[in-house]
Amino acid sequence: MKTETPVQSAYSTFVEQVNQAQVQRVMIGRDRIDYTLKPEFGPKAGHRRYTTQPLGSTDEIVNQLKSQGVQVTIAPEPLPPAGIVGLIISSGMLVGALALAAKFSRAGGVGTASMGKSKVRSYGKSKTGVTFADVAGIDEAKQELQEVVDFLANGDKYRQLGAKIPKGVLLVGPPGTGKTLLAKAIAGEAGVPFLSMAGSEFVEMFVGVGASRVRDLFNKAKRQAPCIVFIDELDAVGKTRGGNPTGGNDEREQTLNQLLTEMDGFSGNDGVIVIAATNRPETLDPALRRPGRFDRQVLVDRPDKSGRLEILQVHGRGVTLGEDVDLADIAAQTAGFAGADLANLVNEAALMAARNNRQAVLMTDFGEAIERVIAGLEKRSRVLTATERQTVAYHEVGHALVGALMPGGNRVTKISIVPRGLGALGYTLQMPENDRFLMLEDELRGQLATLLGGRAAEEIVFGKVSTGASDDIQKATDLAEKAVTEYGMSASLGPVAFAKANAQFLDGSSDRRTTSPEVATEIDRQVKLLLSNARSMAIEILRLNRGLLESATQTLLETEVLDGEQLKAILAQAQAPAELQTWLAGNYSVV
Ligand code: ADP
Ligand code: MG
Ligand code: ZN
Repeated sequence: MKTETPVQSAYSTFVEQVNQAQVQRVMIGRDRIDYTLKPEFGPKAGHRRYTTQPLGSTDEIVNQLKSQGVQVTIAPEPLPPAGIVGLIISSGMLVGALALAAKFSRAGGVGTASMGKSKVRSYGKSKTGVTFADVAGIDEAKQELQEVVDFLANGDKYRQLGAKIPKGVLLVGPPGTGKTLLAKAIAGEAGVPFLSMAGSEFVEMFVGVGASRVRDLFNKAKRQAPCIVFIDELDAVGKTRGGNPTGGNDEREQTLNQLLTEMDGFSGNDGVIVIAATNRPETLDPALRRPGRFDRQVLVDRPDKSGRLEILQVHGRGVTLGEDVDLADIAAQTAGFAGADLANLVNEAALMAARNNRQAVLMTDFGEAIERVIAGLEKRSRVLTATERQTVAYHEVGHALVGALMPGGNRVTKISIVPRGLGALGYTLQMPENDRFLMLEDELRGQLATLLGGRAAEEIVFGKVSTGASDDIQKATDLAEKAVTEYGMSASLGPVAFAKANAQFLDGSSDRRTTSPEVATEIDRQVKLLLSNARSMAIEILRLNRGLLESATQTLLETEVLDGEQLKAILAQAQAPAELQTWLAGNYSVV
């Protein structure tokens, strides 16, 4: 096979090429994908070999490639440096072939014990060389993890004091936000070895291998302490056990049980700290979060505008930037980008400049690169269009303005339109001023209006509503239903508990007492009345404060996050309609 130096290509380009069925052959390594294009698509210079860095899971792309009949090889070990790939490719293929054979034989139920022994060591010990300086824009997470560095670097200090050092830290956040990078940086800062393995590697092998690998990993770790054990994609092993009614996955459960056993078997004071990462925390087995396991959770979220600027600065260090490049401007144009997307963007821009034979990367290169990266991201629906962003902004300001006028000491402390990985497009944070155990009737009405305030703002501004309010409506309906059926807050029905207090089913829904059809109808009517009144009040409030709604939304679109004194000053200007108090007291119906 002829050796040629592969060309760096952006992951978005690769995805595009796969989509257009231009790809001929692919080798997927742990942190790199090497591929060739079909002859008819190989460009001018005669290059057919490319290399790219995957962003997040490659499962989907592998499936797509397989459906196109493209030859895909999975290399269990990190691929050798790109330059010499041509020489190594044949042996890499062999390993890949073995791994595939192994999978098939498991599926077919054929015992292949000898293969299990010749397992590939895919976790390695190394000082990572990454430090916190390489991680930007996620300062809160960094601060929380600073302590972990101290545990590792100065363990004696804690041991002398008799303090218990935590064992497990779970990094939660969307793909590409820097979870792996952070884990490496902790090891780098503390100067300790970093042993890593991906959850999928534990379970993709034969029965029993996963558990023995876990044992192996922890034995190694204990010998090398202090050190970090990093488990990427924890969800691949850590899914709720017994979740599959058709029999479950024994191999995965065995692996998970082994992991739990290992974690219980040492103490953080032994100098081993387990860090795991996931972007699907909701699927994890609750046992993993028990004290003494992953009891610390750190959210690693997408960066806001100033965070994006910092990340661009980190990655911009490596390229020659032209005079006209304004990174702050680029940060403003890249809402929704995670760190990996920004790294990719800088690289794309540099490639663009090279293609144009420039000495430095110019703003126009960034402009084009942004478009390309966004095109890639939109497929994964992560980037909002300008209109969507505007809708989200009005929506969140709507919640905040209505919430500001409601009783009960729930202060709105933060509004954000930085897309959150875990579902919501934006959010409004309401903090109770004190711990509260009881909600008064007027507070309940206020809460309903606040929940519906987001949708009300969309109604007023756009004359129509988006699907983004469905969660609010769900929450408001649940609350209104509770008010009527559990708290006895409806005058016409009186203080009768229609919900059975002990009828909690597994899914959390409660059952209603048997009622006559007339009463059932009346319950529905009362719930609806509470809700439509709350909606009308929210609309009235926002109409009255229309100017403020506009100006606050503009500010939010500008800064993406509003909090602290700035938010306080805005919310202090909100005016209450004359009938608000009577409505809150339940003596005034707006509909
Ligand atoms: P995750 O593990 O959350 O999916 P990674 O840590 O693998 O994300 O990020 C992939 C790459 O993206 C990193 O190697 C780095 O180049 C870049 N990156 C991601 N987040 C950041 C960040 N916060 N600061 C700087 N670079 C980042
Ligand atoms: Mg990762
Ligand atoms: Zn909302």
